[in-house]
Amino acid sequence: MEDEFKIHVDRLRHGEMEKIRETVDPGFLEQNDEELAFNAPISFHGEAYLAEQDLVVHLDIETKAKLPCSICNELTEAPLILKGLYHIVPMHEIKTGVYNLKEFLRETIVLEAPHFVECHGGSCPKRKELKRYLKSPGSTKKEEEDGTYHPFSEL
Ligand SMILES: [Zn+2]
Repeated sequence: MEDEFKIHVDRLRHGEMEKIRETVDPGFLEQNDEELAFNAPISFHGEAYLAEQDLVVHLDIETKAKLPCSICNELTEAPLILKGLYHIVPMHEIKTGVYNLKEFLRETIVLEAPHFVECHGGSCPKRKELKRYLKSPGSTKKEEEDGTYHPFSEL
């Protein structure tokens, strides 16, 4: 288990490059609440190699985050695509000959997750109400009650 996160540093000592291509369950992120959740598989691919005294990991990460729509609060899925990440680890910090990517992935994905999303691909049904609220602060009580909105009535 967990082999998908491991980089065998000892096998890279002579300039080899380890190809990384994995898709893992999002459970290890331990991020699953109302504000931000991950249910979709997490794909990461790239390569790892040694440069002088460092392990260099070069990765793309792809998954989907779930968070409330910024307008109506409906739980909405948003793609999370991170390209060309570099993660550099000094070799002396890797005692066992194996480096585990899990912590790096967890921190990066949770940190880079989107903070704003709008449901229905950017046309939240509640947007109209919000617009009305924002654009007509002077609207009368009556207008609000009968539900009609006259965008140009003040022109
Ligand atoms: Zn919405």
